[in-house]
Amino acid sequence: MKSFVHRGQITKVVFGSGTRSRIPEEADALGCRRVLVLCTPDQADQAAQTGEQLGAAAAGTFAEAAPHTPVEVTEKAVAYARSVGADAVLAIGGGSTIGLGKAITARTGLPQLALPTTYAGSEMTPILGETEGRRKTTRRLPEVLLKTVVYDVDLTLTLPAATSVVSGINAMAHAVEALYAQDRDPVAFLMAGEALDALARSLPLVARHPDDTEARADALYGAWLAGTCLGTVGMALHHKVCHVLGGTFGLPHAETHAVVLPHVIAYNAPAAGEAMARLAQALPGDDPATALYDLAGRLGAPRALRNLGMPETGIDQAAELVVRDGYWNPRPVDRSAVRTFLARAWAGEPPSPSPGRPHSRTGSVTEHPLTTGARHA
Ligand code: NAD
Repeated sequence: MKSFVHRGQITKVVFGSGTRSRIPEEADALGCRRVLVLCTPDQADQAAQTGEQLGAAAAGTFAEAAPHTPVEVTEKAVAYARSVGADAVLAIGGGSTIGLGKAITARTGLPQLALPTTYAGSEMTPILGETEGRRKTTRRLPEVLLKTVVYDVDLTLTLPAATSVVSGINAMAHAVEALYAQDRDPVAFLMAGEALDALARSLPLVARHPDDTEARADALYGAWLAGTCLGTVGMALHHKVCHVLGGTFGLPHAETHAVVLPHVIAYNAPAAGEAMARLAQALPGDDPATALYDLAGRLGAPRALRNLGMPETGIDQAAELVVRDGYWNPRPVDRSAVRTFLARAWAGEPPSPSPGRPHSRTGSVTEHPLTTGARHA
């Protein structure tokens, strides 16, 4: 018998095609009459259409959401929300825009609704990452959980194929780490496996035909499940590495996840047999790490950190930062092992199984005892 704790989600989820038309009634159901629409400059057109749909309930649009949720942007948005008497925020966009909405909620208590348009999954988590100066901090704040998320597959059709692929692999990363999370539970495990199946089968179709609505719906379904995993269980080495690389070298979020994930899967495989067995169902082949590396290559995703702008001299620094204040991980983490796989990821080489360790997907390997750590994103 396995004991577990499962955390349920409070967020209402609406999923389908054309579902954005339900935004006015969802806002109304929350008692909101003055909704401030948030977006990046790139998505001003989609935001304008949403504002029109809201009609009299539209309080205005703030179109300055930016990556990594800079505090100065949040302060400007909060001032604008107050000036227009907003009683809710509605984010239309990806993790950057939804992050701005969470930062506003944290400061004002205004409820947030969202129309997610990428596969990053932030809409399903209580995680708030913010940047002040060059410093990024990440917190779990239950109060920033969204009230309502309306997934409208039609809004994802404009996400460019290349961005869709890396965003989809970003979602896969949440699901992979949920499979071996320290606090995993049977529901999270089921959701993670289902998310990986959906993303692995849909991303090749989306890459070839970005306007394939069925494939887009499958990818968005996987992204919802993966985001829910990210919101309910703790993340491990992969997310720590990506936070370090993003924070230290300013590397792009989704692309960094896409490069690093095969290497961390290979590293953790010997200590996560049950997770690898489930992952291999979604990514059949010699081993899931190589299967993902090959898939990323076939879909045109970047596979080398050097091509994302990371200097070679940064490998040692990153390895040091990853082990300092590290997250819990199924396999103990040491600096030299991290340095080894980061060097491969930097050069774009395939992931390598650890020497002397079984690289198995049979489930026969031993799970390592838990090392210390906390719940992180
Ligand atoms: P993003 O939100 O930065 O979007 C990337 C670009 O794509 C933006 O210019 C955006 O306007 C555009 N875009 C988005 N959807 C589009 C569409 N359908 N059509 C055309 N253009 C579109 O990228 P992201 O990867 O979704 O989010 C990354 C950010 O989110 C990072 O800052 C990351 O740290 C954060 N994040 C947070 C969490 C969390 O739980 N807190 C989870 C995942 C990501």
